[in-house]
Amino acid sequence: MDDMIKGEIITIGNELISGRTLDINSCYIAGRLTAIGIQVIKITSVGDEYETVAEAIKKALNRADFIIVTGGLGSTKDDITNEIVAKALNRPLKLNRTALEYIKRKVAEMGIEMNPSLEKMAWMPEGAQMLDLQGNACGYSIRDKDVLLYFLPGVPDQMKYLLDRFVIPEILRNTKEKLPIVKKRVLKLYGINESLIAESLKDLEEKEGVSLGFYPVFPEYHIVISARGEDEAKLLSSIDEIEAQIRERLSDYIFGKDEEKMEEVVGRLLRSHSLTLSVAESCTGGLISHRITNVSGSSDHFMGGAVVYSNEAKMRILGVREDTLKNFGAVSAETAKEMAEGVRRCIPSDIGVAVTGIAGPTGGTKQKPVGTVFIGLSSKDGTVTRRYRFFGEREQIKLNSSMMALDWIRRYVNGDPFLPGI
Ligand code: AMP
Ligand code: MG
Repeated sequence: MDDMIKGEIITIGNELISGRTLDINSCYIAGRLTAIGIQVIKITSVGDEYETVAEAIKKALNRADFIIVTGGLGSTKDDITNEIVAKALNRPLKLNRTALEYIKRKVAEMGIEMNPSLEKMAWMPEGAQMLDLQGNACGYSIRDKDVLLYFLPGVPDQMKYLLDRFVIPEILRNTKEKLPIVKKRVLKLYGINESLIAESLKDLEEKEGVSLGFYPVFPEYHIVISARGEDEAKLLSSIDEIEAQIRERLSDYIFGKDEEKMEEVVGRLLRSHSLTLSVAESCTGGLISHRITNVSGSSDHFMGGAVVYSNEAKMRILGVREDTLKNFGAVSAETAKEMAEGVRRCIPSDIGVAVTGIAGPTGGTKQKPVGTVFIGLSSKDGTVTRRYRFFGEREQIKLNSSMMALDWIRRYVNGDPFLPGI
């Protein structure tokens, strides 16, 4: 791995180290660098403070081929990246004409007056090259001996714009031939725990240059197959082989791959089987309908949904019987069954799905603790219900309930058995 090209990321901002702002920039930059075959060896977050920023940059200069720094390029007093870099790299601050023009133009567009704080942004360490000569965002690069440093704005949208348009293409130009080809595939699983995955895959044949990563991404589980090498076709066929081995063992837990979302998979399946869907939601409060309608084109299979939160709504809108609610409770298999059948009747559709449960933190009992959720699915084949127990905060329970309901639709259409409940 020592012959790999190394990248380092430094994010600057007091808000990042005080816990006020989540460091989105490192995550995005690391993903982009990794995708083009650069090994990210370190990510550092520091406050807007001379010593720590200078130290981070100096250390990175000794280890990395590329350093990407974000933050502290703005006009406020705490934006001191340019001064720190000037001192740390021993280069005086110089007025960068391109940057000044850009700032003046922006200021005019915004209808505000130019002032010294804004001009300050154009004073950059000597040798700074503005990345975007059209000046849509302010960021620059500096070469220091063999190391190329990029300084990008902290605002994630501006940072992403400069990174994708200028930095990544420039790195690719500078490292042509030296970078390996990197290919990756993400398999997304639901309803299986880590130990079962480990157990199922322990005899997986290894392949040279291919590595596997295992990541819980609540409520999903992702297996990432990565391959590096010279020959793209070979890499892809190695990935295909590993994927086939994983599918052999875990196929019905794998709901999608790469960027696919569960709701997209469900939408595609319904469309390809010409099936229609309606949804009755209690504890998920419309989340299932929301997710389904986030997918463009869902109107061709999604007939509608009802959020029936109260007993009254369950009875009046879906025709759930009063006796059922009295005898078994709103959170019960019987109610889930009548909800699923009711919504399929009221909003004519091939599949009616219902969810009723206790999202918490209050409302749990000994018999039905927080996280108890019933799912029902009604179709021409009859109605099935099952009881589940989910754990976590209210929103996690809602998310997991919506995921299980969507997975039921996926499994129903695929002819797979539903996941066992409790
Ligand atoms: P700055 O360029 O340092 O003036 O940053 C401007 C704004 O961008 C900050 O107030 C933050 O809201 C945001 N920001 C800066 N750095 C990051 C980061 N690493 N991740 C996410 N947001 C950031
Ligand atoms: Mg800042």
